Amino acid sequence: MPRKRLSEASLRLKQAFHPESLMMTYAYKPELSEGALKVPIFQTSTFVFKTAEEGKAFFEIAYGLRKKGETESAGLIYSRINNPDLEILEERLALWDGAEACAVFNTGMAAIATTLMALVHPGDIVLYSTPLYGGTDHLLKHVLPVFGVRAVPFRAAACAGAEDLTAALAAAGVAATDHVSVLLVETPANPTNALVDLAACAEFAERRGAGGRRPLVLVDNTFLGPLWQQPLRHGADIVLYSATKYIGGHSDLLAGAALGARAVLEPVRALRTFFGTLADPWTGWLLMRSLETLKLRMTSAMKNARYVADFLAAHEKVERVYYLGHLRDGDPQYAVYRRQCSGPGAMVSFEVKGGEPDAFRFLNALRLVKLAVSLGGTESLAEHPYSMTHADVSPEAKRAAGISDRMIRLSVGIEHPDDTIADLSQALSQV
Ligand code: PLP
Repeated sequence: MPRKRLSEASLRLKQAFHPESLMMTYAYKPELSEGALKVPIFQTSTFVFKTAEEGKAFFEIAYGLRKKGETESAGLIYSRINNPDLEILEERLALWDGAEACAVFNTGMAAIATTLMALVHPGDIVLYSTPLYGGTDHLLKHVLPVFGVRAVPFRAAACAGAEDLTAALAAAGVAATDHVSVLLVETPANPTNALVDLAACAEFAERRGAGGRRPLVLVDNTFLGPLWQQPLRHGADIVLYSATKYIGGHSDLLAGAALGARAVLEPVRALRTFFGTLADPWTGWLLMRSLETLKLRMTSAMKNARYVADFLAAHEKVERVYYLGHLRDGDPQYAVYRRQCSGPGAMVSFEVKGGEPDAFRFLNALRLVKLAVSLGGTESLAEHPYSMTHADVSPEAKRAAGISDRMIRLSVGIEHPDDTIADLSQALSQV
């Protein structure tokens, strides 16, 4: 267990060094693994207890049957509950967001679903921003209502402050006495890059919770995090990731994460054990390898995305580009960007002139850039949100959220930008 194994010296490292300097070694003691420099894969479903008494004590702590003693540490039991690869990974991932604790999951949807189910009860309201990832949209609209939880949307781009969130609830007929347990936002939003003001979210939560239970602010930080946006620093309670994307970064694994204060994550971690949504040791190991190059990959992709976005904005077959690096003074979204983001990331959406047949002609003509959903990998990917990632969202909701049938979502990778642009250029000539 890394908590047990973390020495005082290693905790001091956390204060002294940047996350990228700690990704290779933090929270791991080679002497506990035959001196191996790298964390071995603990490919085991279960762990051997030294004594029956130890096994009993480990379960009492893991299941919250009693408080941990001063010198006691949570022990390794079973890989659905904990595993060294996942625990070391969690310690490292937490460094980027400045989080006290992290819980890793086997997919991003598992992170989102487990977290929501741990925090909501029948009769509760979840207020959420639109657009957001189609899978999350489905969960909110079709799964939570089965459990008596109502999801109320608000438009990310139209939210100018905390009062707009209150207005969205009022417009949906939510009474002041109804319990809003969660405010879930995806910022930047998939696929339009619309931003939600995190300070406004925190203010809303404070106001709504005055004298009662404060809603928790959950932020899906998949598009910009953990490098270019750290929502916990702006008042969020829990940060959520599809670690399948930038954190994994090679389009070869599925994973998710939730980060926040240890106490806030406690019910989430408990439910993860019983839903069985912890990631497996091999995925944990792969993610640790990915974290070593996270900053390099995200920086390179972000640099390339600027060239690509500038090229698209100047192209005669392109109607509109949705790219954070093109926000300008005077646009309220730019003020939000300046406050809470440190870079525009590498997600660029754009509309081709025409309609779906033109978008499809473009996608079918790509040669270097692959036509696939997902994002955040080393390779550039393009997809059609209207009919693919957001196929399940109603046409009216898509229209309201600004997702048109001529929109392409591009995840810019780490190829030479000239090559990416050459491919986009030849594909656009088919439109
Ligand atoms: N959140 C966002 C913003 C996403 O784009 C995705 C997937 O595309 C998810 C969550 C879900 O993640 P996963 O596919 O790892 O379950």
